[in-house]
Amino acid sequence: MRAKVDLYHLRGVFTFVGVFAATIVLPGLFLAYYGLAGIRAQQRAGAAEVERVANGTADNFQVGVEALFKGFEDGTLNRLKAGQSVTSGLRGISDSLRVVFRYDSDGVLVFPQSPDAEDALEDQELFFFAPWQAALHAERQQDYSRAAALFAQASREARGPELKGQAVFARANAAQRAGELFVAEQLFTEVLSGYAAVRDAYGFRLGDLARLKLGELRLRRDPIAGEAAVREHVELLLAEPWVIGRGGEAAVARRGIDLIAGRANPEWLGRARGRLEDRASQLFWAERLLPELETLGAKGRMLRVAPGEFSYSRTDEALWATTWTDEDQYVLGLDLSSLMLEIGKIAARAAGPESDVVAVIRGPDDPGSDAPLARRSLAPWFPSWSLGVYPRDAVALLRRQAEERQRGIGIILLSVAMITVGTVLSARLVQRELEVARDKSDFAANVSHELRSPITQIRLKAEALQLGLAPDEAAREKHYDIIVREAERLSRLVDNVLDFAAIERGRKTYTFRPGDLGATCARMVEAAMVAMETRGMDIQLTLPEDLPVVWHDADAVSQVLTNLLSNAAKYGQEAGWIRVNVSAAEAGTSDGGGSGSEGGVLVAVSDGGIGIAPEEQRQIFEQYYRSSDPQARRKKGTGIGLTIVKYIMEAHGGRVSVRSAAGRGSTFTLHFPLRPPGPSA
Ligand code: ADP
Repeated sequence: MRAKVDLYHLRGVFTFVGVFAATIVLPGLFLAYYGLAGIRAQQRAGAAEVERVANGTADNFQVGVEALFKGFEDGTLNRLKAGQSVTSGLRGISDSLRVVFRYDSDGVLVFPQSPDAEDALEDQELFFFAPWQAALHAERQQDYSRAAALFAQASREARGPELKGQAVFARANAAQRAGELFVAEQLFTEVLSGYAAVRDAYGFRLGDLARLKLGELRLRRDPIAGEAAVREHVELLLAEPWVIGRGGEAAVARRGIDLIAGRANPEWLGRARGRLEDRASQLFWAERLLPELETLGAKGRMLRVAPGEFSYSRTDEALWATTWTDEDQYVLGLDLSSLMLEIGKIAARAAGPESDVVAVIRGPDDPGSDAPLARRSLAPWFPSWSLGVYPRDAVALLRRQAEERQRGIGIILLSVAMITVGTVLSARLVQRELEVARDKSDFAANVSHELRSPITQIRLKAEALQLGLAPDEAAREKHYDIIVREAERLSRLVDNVLDFAAIERGRKTYTFRPGDLGATCARMVEAAMVAMETRGMDIQLTLPEDLPVVWHDADAVSQVLTNLLSNAAKYGQEAGWIRVNVSAAEAGTSDGGGSGSEGGVLVAVSDGGIGIAPEEQRQIFEQYYRSSDPQARRKKGTGIGLTIVKYIMEAHGGRVSVRSAAGRGSTFTLHFPLRPPGPSA
């Protein structure tokens, strides 16, 4: 029967559990599952993202390096096509281009020129020549006239134009220093006309030096004409063929430019200086790099490619690019360290400063220990070199990935935990609701049962009286008593049910008046006395004389006492006694009630009956609750009596408490405060 009832209530529970599972638990589990899958996917995506960034960096780098070389090749080809020089203004082609060699179709170096064997400097015979030595001595003494005379003697005695020319030039210098400017000018003119091509011990052509001196002297006399002469001389020097290892012309030209720097047209000056630097720099690099180039093969000849194409080779200090026109071969020398600097910058730009990866250039000697995320070869320019892209901070990257994973898992675990807690709490609520539902259905059954028995009694006794079945006065009296008692019981029950209904609906109101609570208690004990005695129970009341006045609703308090007394009679029948103890609560005693600290009145109803298990002592005040103890269950009841007691006590601003031990009886204590209760609900 009970199982059937449970099943009836369980239908709703099943629906609830179904809805709960469908709307919370299953989606929660799905979410957790997909969350975990998501974390895995995110990890994979994270790794893929790093790889994508690495590849992007490597691609950027490759594009950058290609652009660098394309700029270089296009710059070269455009000049060749336009018929412009690729041997000057090298910075305009590439920052790293230092020198260009041009070979003719026979493989002969035509630019810059190699020094001729005949151009080799004369031996230094002059230094061992007596008049020359004496002249140098006089110069050191600053005796320039004597020096000039000794150089004149040397020039007469010297053999061959080289020695003669140098002596004449030295004499001219000494004369100038001695202040014989006219003589000096004549001698410089003589050098210019007679010994122009002779080179001195430092590789300077005497003609160039003499011409510079003449310009200097002329400038002093006639600045305009002097400047024009020096300028013309500088132009001539700059137009001279470039010969590797010969810096003299450039040095003289530089001195000439400095001489007229204050006067000359700045635009001309700038251009002249630029050409000079170009020449000086290229000759410097040509001298330095030509031996390296020659190690590549005879006359630097490299892979023959179609006109407009380039082939590359590398030596220690240079990357050599070669291209061909129909007639000539051009070998362009790029300075390796400068080029690596440029490529390094491209690598740094390719990754960017904020990126998680770094781009490192790896040479054949430095292959790197870890496998890179991405790699790009530097062929065809540097076949054995490559770019490797690595995590900037591999440890931090791994840690970040781990943190992300942990956070994700943490969130999922938290959600699962919350769903679990929610499920457990819900299950307990469901269980509780189930109990209430069961109690409620019990309540309906109990009430009808409780109603039936007094009605039956009343009817039986009334019918007996009506039919004259009571033989004598005493029997009739007994019948009347039973009818009255059962009617009272009936009305108590009906009162309780109606009150409970009113309480549930929030409609119950009370009228509080200051009054003698002791008198109310005494009346109720009195009223109960007869019924108790017929049950063979002893009831005793202890009532002090000077009780304080207590605000109370006498009818409601009567109902409270009725309920407590009938419980004591019901559950304490075997012990056979009930004590009602009314006392004044002392102000300041902390009995925990609202009345304690201010004083008040306590009414304790005790019995020696079955008692209440500790775990049930709170629940008994809940509506419909009846003890699960079989001893208590045997007694009839509805489970609302104590609920009404608790409600009425709270309406009085007081409370009810219970002290009980199973099998040893119970004491229910009512705590009434002295102050008037607030307006009743
Ligand atoms: P009932 O109609 O079942 O008596 P109550 O609300 O008055 O309903 O009481 C609730 C429960 O508290 C009872 O079912 C019983 O188990 C327990 N109870 C109440 N008074 C006593 C008592 N004096 N001794 C033992 N148990 C009691």
